[in-house]
Amino acid sequence: MTQYVLAVDQGTTSTRAIIFDHSGSIVAVGQKEHEQIFPRAGWVEHNPVEISENTRFVIGQALAAADLNTGDLAAVGITNQRETAVVWDKNTGEPVYNAIVWQDTRTQAIVEELGALGGGAERYKAKVGLPLATYFSGPKIRWILDNVEGARERAEAGDLLFGNTDTWTLWNLTGGPNGGVHATDVTNASRTMLMDLDTLQWDTEIAGEMGIPVSMLPEIRSSSEVYGNGGPGGVLKGVPIAGILGDQQAATFGQACYEPGTAKNTYGTGNFMLLNTGTEKVASKNGLLTTVCYKIGDEAPVYALEGSIAVTGSLVQWLRDNLGIISSAPEIETLARSVEDNGGAYFVPAFSGLFAPYWRADARGAVVGLTRFVNKGHLARAVLEATAFQTREVLDAMNADSGVPLTELKVDGGMVQNELLMQFQADVLDVPVVRPVVAETTALGAAYAAGLAVGYWSSLDELRANWAEDKRWTPELDADEREREYRNWKKAVTKSFDWVD
Ligand code: ADP
Repeated sequence: MTQYVLAVDQGTTSTRAIIFDHSGSIVAVGQKEHEQIFPRAGWVEHNPVEISENTRFVIGQALAAADLNTGDLAAVGITNQRETAVVWDKNTGEPVYNAIVWQDTRTQAIVEELGALGGGAERYKAKVGLPLATYFSGPKIRWILDNVEGARERAEAGDLLFGNTDTWTLWNLTGGPNGGVHATDVTNASRTMLMDLDTLQWDTEIAGEMGIPVSMLPEIRSSSEVYGNGGPGGVLKGVPIAGILGDQQAATFGQACYEPGTAKNTYGTGNFMLLNTGTEKVASKNGLLTTVCYKIGDEAPVYALEGSIAVTGSLVQWLRDNLGIISSAPEIETLARSVEDNGGAYFVPAFSGLFAPYWRADARGAVVGLTRFVNKGHLARAVLEATAFQTREVLDAMNADSGVPLTELKVDGGMVQNELLMQFQADVLDVPVVRPVVAETTALGAAYAAGLAVGYWSSLDELRANWAEDKRWTPELDADEREREYRNWKKAVTKSFDWVD
């Protein structure tokens, strides 16, 4: 009997279920968006109950579209928006608060308070690979315990559980209050600021300083092993759930970046470039994060350097939803092609401060270089170019940290359908940009991890052989113009600093 692997991709804007066959090709997709809740400037929340309902719905949708049932699934993998924190009651399954999303900046005061204990933003970096920033889960858990009435007492009594959305999804799919498995994988754990990168265990000292009871944290497991089976009454009854990777690590895995020195860049809500550094943990001197790339069963963990950019595709959404200049995301390409160049305009989308390589919480968005000449076509270009320039800054940091310049960049994510952007990206980086046939690399990576654990795929070599090139963009811009544009961008970035007291 032909079997398949299903991946749940619990993303920032939507939840998808994708069924893959043995060649790594997509057989069917289910997808549903969830509400983005913005209670105040800088706050971003999701409703965890809506997310778990959507998860069940999209799994059913994908199975129905492929005319399959759970008996046809060899395994299920989970991948997820990382750092987004959910805290719930283990007896009722009810969240005590909305999920606080990775882009949310409400924990600024907590982050500053922790930094003031000594060491500033670098306080925990040697242990966890991350600078103190609002981005990561730990301070978000602390905020919930401090601000939701009774939450701290309930957490201390052992009644509350924490998880990123991988854990929330796993717990619900494996039975929820009736035997749900409370676990996470090393990649998700490495985004909390609470995991020691060497021992791959929770650091009790840091958890203590943040005021987080260790009892509410999930068990840390590898990225590829059987965590549990779908719960008896559920949509996945009896199917082994056997792979978990945070979305960016999953994309790296799906892009077959298994050798040290290989890298991918994902263009979604934000942009995330990961460079596989092998079993060696590399500390960044240039504003990158050190994170776990993946760990297969009992094998040694593989680490990565990561350049995270908060706002790329979501700037296109902003143009669509907040300004109404375009009616769909792909329309930005048509608008941008109506003009020759950016007309002198630069758009720095520091909506959540700036992440890599700056880590400036005080930055806010800026549009500079405006004259009477600039029209919406130029702005559309400036929006797309912002993604490419931010990526150049991250790539420069990667090259400086690793000492080995990258010779080509594998790309994926929603924005890589934009041909104008991809050409400009190759021009600004001065290296070829390469898109694979299966652009859903995030879901594919989670499917791979799950399939490996149950023997559906036998080795990384088999996965590597599935990777196929779809299209390649080669640099065309002359060096002088490239560097002039990049200098202008850097100047524009400085105009976004110092907007928050
Ligand atoms: P995520 O997984 O983070 O939810 P996706 O990988 O699905 O994101 O990518 C969606 C993002 O890509 C959206 O922010 C959207 O604005 C952007 N996007 C989609 N198509 C295009 C396009 N043709 N040109 C530019 N941006 C696009």
